[in-house]
Formats: sequence, C-alpha cells, structure tokens
Amino acid sequence: MKTLARVSILATGGTIAGAAPSSTQPGYTSGKINVEGMIQAVPNLEQLARLNGEQISNVGSQDMSFEIMIRLASRINALLSKEETDGVVVTHGTDTMEETAFFLNLTIKSPKPVVMTGAMRPFTALSADGPLNLYNAVAVAADPRSLDRGVMVVMNDRIHGAHSLTKTNTTSVETFLSPVNGLMGTVIYGDIQYFRGPFRKHTISSEFSLQNVSALPRVDILYACADMPPDLLDCSVSSGAVGIVIAGDGNGNMNGACLEKAARMADRGIFIVRSSRVPTGTVGRNLEVDDDANNFIVSDELNPAKARILLMLALLKKRTRQQVQDLFYSY
Ligand code: ASP
Repeated sequence: MKTLARVSILATGGTIAGAAPSSTQPGYTSGKINVEGMIQAVPNLEQLARLNGEQISNVGSQDMSFEIMIRLASRINALLSKEETDGVVVTHGTDTMEETAFFLNLTIKSPKPVVMTGAMRPFTALSADGPLNLYNAVAVAADPRSLDRGVMVVMNDRIHGAHSLTKTNTTSVETFLSPVNGLMGTVIYGDIQYFRGPFRKHTISSEFSLQNVSALPRVDILYACADMPPDLLDCSVSSGAVGIVIAGDGNGNMNGACLEKAARMADRGIFIVRSSRVPTGTVGRNLEVDDDANNFIVSDELNPAKARILLMLALLKKRTRQQVQDLFYSY
C-alpha cells in the first residue's frame, strides 16, 4: 500500500475562508472560517495526504503584512526542516497572493513543495471554488514531482510559478495568469501535469535569509500617470523610503519632471527601480530611458508589487546598484 505524504495546511485568511449571509450574496467578509472548517469541507482530502492544520492569521489579504509573512516563512522553514513534513499548503487571500508567493519563493530554505491557494468565491457561496482549489493544492503538495519547483500557486486547475503569476480579474475564478512565461502545469481533480520548471533562482538557491530579520526596509511604489507630480518622490523619501519602485507607464516610463527628480534621488543613494503598470511584458535597460546615466535599475519581468519585495529583501544587506540590478535578472 502506498504511504501517504504528510502535508501541513497553514491558513492565513482570505475569501477561501470568507463567509456571506447567504449563498448568493456578493458581499462577504474574508477570514471567517478556520483551518479545520476548510479541511472538513473538502471530500476525500484525507485520501491525498495525512494532514494537519495550523492557523497563522485570519485576515483578508489586503491586510497581509510583512510581520505575518515573516512569521509564515519561519513556520514553513521549521516544518519543512523536519522529516515528518513532506509539503506545505498555504491558504491565502487572492489580492496579495502573488506578493506572499514571491516572498516565500525567496525565503524558504527547502526543496519540498510549498503550494499556495485561495478562492474568488467565499466559503459559503453557491459554487464556491475554494474546496476544489484546496483539494488540488494538497494533491500538488503531496506529489514528489513537485519537489524543487519553488513556491507555486494552484487556482482554478492551473499551477503557476511564484515568479510569473499575477491577479488579473477582480471577480472571476479565472483570475490568475502567468502572462509572460506561461503556466507551470495543470491539476484537474488532483491529476497533475507539469509543462516546465521554474527558470529563475528560488528557495534553496536563493541567497536571501530571514534569520534575525523582524522588519524590512521601506520601499514605496509610485504609480506613473499623465502629468504625474514629481513631489510624490520627495514625499516617499522624506517618509523614510530607501527605495522606490516606479509602476511606470509603458516600458517603465515616467514624465520628464519625475525622471529628473528620480535621477537626483538615485544620486543621493535611493534605489530607483523602473517597473511597469502594464500587466505583461518586461522592462529593459537603456531603451527609452538612459538607465546607466540616471543610475536606475530595471525590474525585467517583475511587476511593481514583486519588484518591491525583491528590493526590500535586497536592501537588508549593503549592495551596489549593479548588484541589485543583477538580482533582478536572477530572481
Ligand atoms: N480580498 C480578498 C483577499 O485577498 C479577496 C480574495 O481572497 O479573493 O483576502
């Protein structure tokens, strides 16, 4: 008889744990159902793996914080360092799932599977998507083919890598896409097919560590738009930001006044990363903007939210601009 894998489910909240007054009501509150309730709602879950559940937090992921993320990462690292855990599933709200997924992808020190999942419809809704998402996530976490693939997100039958996925729809169950580099695989009622592995450094090949870290340096994201006021950059820096990610228009652009201000900030040692508010594509160096002359860093494929996470982790240690740029090409 096949021995079942041992999978820990760590719950953090989100719509997957959300409740509404009726099953057809669109209004609901995230983070109302606890981990035991979620596990019990999924038929045959215990046939996929030996499970245990832990509640890390119970928040809508709009309230996810670095304090919770650091606690979550250290709990996952502790669990996966033990022989008796084969994989971890994290339930999480979808709003900031890509940020936590990428954060864990850089800070977990194990090749064992870490699989995140959530839901677009609350636990109490008609046709709730959470139970099947959780079933598929446990199947992926329990499967030996999932080893050494970095942190993955399983939603709506798709397996996404943490580097590539992004939320694209405010309400649809088909919200996550990996638009630049594509899916890692699919999982249909627990039946897994992998197409490819991750193509960037992650988990055990990552140089980032949370040892002795309780807070991260402040990095702000500024959303570029027509006639963007440059004093937004002053506001960030005077409030304590040591890095700024520009969610630039197009290929990481901003208007002339902001460009000039950003270059002056970079001269003062502030790390300026050009990313894009456009949902797909990469931001390349020295195309429309002279990054070498302005001392800017480009985000390559990372969207502003993930570029911020990488920059925050990078700035835990003293690094040159070139070293930080290299990180954006490696992670
Ligand atoms: N606001 C919710 C959250 O991120 C949305 C969801 O989970 O789908 O927690």
